[in-house]
Amino acid sequence: MELMNAVSRRTFMGGLAAALTYTGWRPGSRLFGQTAREQMSRPKVTVEEYERLAKLANNENPYGPSEAVLKAMTDAFKYANRYLYPDGGITEAIAAHHGVKPENILLGAGSGEILKVVGDTFLNVHKKVVGAEPTYGSVYAHATGIKAEAIKIPLLKDYRADIPAMISATRQNYRDVGFVYLCNPNNPTGVIVPKNEVRQLLDGIPGDVPVLIDEAYHHFVQDPDYATSVPYVLEGRQVIVTRTFSKIAGLAGMRLGYGIAPKELVENMRTFSTGSISAIVKWGGVAALNDTANEARVKKVTIELRNKVTSELKSMGYYVIPSEANFFMVHIRRDVVPVIEEFRKKNVAVGRAFPPMVQHLRVSIGTESEMSRFMTAFKEIIAAGKTSALG
Ligand code: PLP
Repeated sequence: MELMNAVSRRTFMGGLAAALTYTGWRPGSRLFGQTAREQMSRPKVTVEEYERLAKLANNENPYGPSEAVLKAMTDAFKYANRYLYPDGGITEAIAAHHGVKPENILLGAGSGEILKVVGDTFLNVHKKVVGAEPTYGSVYAHATGIKAEAIKIPLLKDYRADIPAMISATRQNYRDVGFVYLCNPNNPTGVIVPKNEVRQLLDGIPGDVPVLIDEAYHHFVQDPDYATSVPYVLEGRQVIVTRTFSKIAGLAGMRLGYGIAPKELVENMRTFSTGSISAIVKWGGVAALNDTANEARVKKVTIELRNKVTSELKSMGYYVIPSEANFFMVHIRRDVVPVIEEFRKKNVAVGRAFPPMVQHLRVSIGTESEMSRFMTAFKEIIAAGKTSALG
C-alpha cells in the first residue's frame, strides 16, 4: 500500500509517544471526543490500550503527516524556546492558497478554536445560532456554555440540510440571531449542501447575519454540485469559512486551523482568539499546503476504502448514507449505543451516537487493516444476528 503510517515509518523527535503513560481514554467510555470540552473531560487509557484500537471514532487521518511535513516540523523544533520566531509565513501561505489577503485569515489552534471564537464574537447571552440537527455539535455546546441558544433545524428525510427552514428560522428570529452555522459536508452524515443551496441561504437571509461555513471535510468531496464558499468572502459577504489541517493533512494532534472572512469580521474575532499555536505546526502547515501530491494520495486511498467498505455493507442489505467525507453512516436498524460498546470490546472504536439518528453508526475511514477489522467485527456483532431488532 502506497500510504503507510508516516509517523510509524520513522521516529519523530525520538518517539515522544513512547514516553507517555496515558492517552486519556478508558474502556467502557466513549473514545475521546472531537471538541475541546470533550477532551478536557476524557478519561484515562494506557498507551498500549490505545495502540490496540482501530481508531474509527473521530474522522482522523490514519496516515499522519507526510514526510515533507514531518521534516518541516522537526526543523522547526529549534524555535521551541522562542516567542518571536520565524513562522514560515503560514498566514501569507494560506492567504495565497485561497487568493485572499493575509488580513482575511485568522489562525486557530485547530478550526475548533475558530468555531468557538465565532460564538464568542457573535453570540451574547440569549442570542441564537441557527443550524442543522444533527451536525458537528461543538458550536451548540459552546452556545449553551455562554447562555446563548440554538435553533436546530432537523435534517430532511434524505439527510440533506433543510435550507428553506433555516432561512425562515433566521428571518423570523432576525434580531436575535447571532449567526448561522452550516457544516459542509456535514458531520456526522457526510452529506454536502450543494452550491446553489448555499447561495439560496445567503441570498435568503438578511445580509448582515454572519454565516459560518465549516469546510473541515472539503478535501474529500467529489460531487460537482459542491463548491467552497471562499468566493463569498471575496464578494464581501458576512461569511466565515473554516478549514483545518487535522483531516487531509493528518495534523489533528498538532492543532492548526483557520477562518477566512472579510477583514472587519477577522478584526472583531481576533480579540477573542488566543493566537496560541505552536511554532512547529505553523511550519508543518506551510509544508502541508505545498504537498499537493500527498493530499491527492490521501483523498484517493480514503475514497477507495470508503467505497469498498460501504459497497460491502450495502451488498449485505444495510443502508449507507452516501458520503462525501472520510467517514460514513450506516443504518444498523437498532440502537447504536450498545453496538458501539460491542465494537469496543473487539478493540474497534467507532463514532458515538448522534441523536436523533440513534440507529445510524458513524464510521471513520481508517487504514485498510483497520477497515477489515471493522468489517469482521460488524459481521460478528450485527450481521450474525446477535441482535434481536434486526429487520
Ligand atoms: N468541524 C468539524 C465538522 C469537525 O468534524 C471537526 C473535528 O472533527 C472540527 C471542526 C474541529 O477540528 P479541528 O479543531 O481539529 O480543526
